[in-house]
Amino acid sequence: EHLSNMIAAGEVVERPSGIVKELVENSIDAKAKHIEIQILQGGIDCITIIDDGCGMDAQDATLAFERHATSKIQAVDDLWKISTMGFRGEALPSIASVSQVTLRTNDGIDSSEVIIYYGTLKSARPCGTPKGTMLEVRNLFQKTPARFKHLKSPQYEFSLISDVVQKFAISHPNIGFELSHDGRSVFKTKGNGNLREVLMQIYGRDGAKTAIELHGQDLDYTIRGYALQPQFQRATKYYVLLYINGRMIRNYHLQKAVMDAYAPYMPKDRYPIAVINMEMDAQLVDVNVHPSKWEIRLSKEKQLEKLLYQTIKAALMQDME
Ligand code: ADP
Ligand code: MG
Repeated sequence: EHLSNMIAAGEVVERPSGIVKELVENSIDAKAKHIEIQILQGGIDCITIIDDGCGMDAQDATLAFERHATSKIQAVDDLWKISTMGFRGEALPSIASVSQVTLRTNDGIDSSEVIIYYGTLKSARPCGTPKGTMLEVRNLFQKTPARFKHLKSPQYEFSLISDVVQKFAISHPNIGFELSHDGRSVFKTKGNGNLREVLMQIYGRDGAKTAIELHGQDLDYTIRGYALQPQFQRATKYYVLLYINGRMIRNYHLQKAVMDAYAPYMPKDRYPIAVINMEMDAQLVDVNVHPSKWEIRLSKEKQLEKLLYQTIKAALMQDME
């Protein structure tokens, strides 16, 4: 049991940013409206996630660390959800097998604390804590030196974490995110649903001011999002976030459509920054392509590529006038 957790940990938690991703996903699943992420030393020393979500009762607080103890399976009604949940019930046991974890959670009735060190339950007892969940992950990989060796500098690990949290903040403008590193606030979003404000928090006032609203629609697809004006693009790496029905995806052809639309306007050695959500009937998406949940297949992909290209092109051209 402990061994299988350790093996799973290799997949789920290669580095601090992977842990942050899993924990923030859990907070989002728990319907949190506010998620605070405190990082010490790139997450190698400590990762703390505090949410105001539904919390867990006393029994679930310990059960959550048992393998495949997901509470989400029965709640699943469609294939899309199943295949986007990724590692079902593996994240917490995996993380707890390679670190010192303290969980405090309050579901409005029970209020509990569970402490697990490197896979061993240290204590589980009632405690006072606000509604929601606090999860603290300390001293990552101290007992697994081979894995510890693969960690890079705290600065580098933090840059990966920051990237993960930015993407969550952009894709969930209705949730307030707060990220800090070594006690210093890095960014904070309000959670008032205003994507432009989120972009401002992340890319600065100038970047967000130049955001062009995207809106495209045909019989099957609705496209909404923001593209930053080409002349203000500061990205030196590809930075286009694509979402289908609110879930982040990766798809070469769609990314290429975005690049092609931008191409005539882009300064040299600069890449577009855009955040694009594509709404469609779940039947048009095949998510069984890859368990990593990023890759997807679309039944009318050419049509969506064309709409995406035209939507961005039209917005950029109009903006030039
Ligand atoms: P999964 O998310 O696939 O269900 P995890 O190992 O990530 O598996 O979490 C196990 C269970 O712990 C979840 O199903 C959920 O019931 C509970 N849980 C984890 N994090 C939270 C949280 N922040 N708030 C409420 N419940 C949580
Ligand atoms: Mg999870």
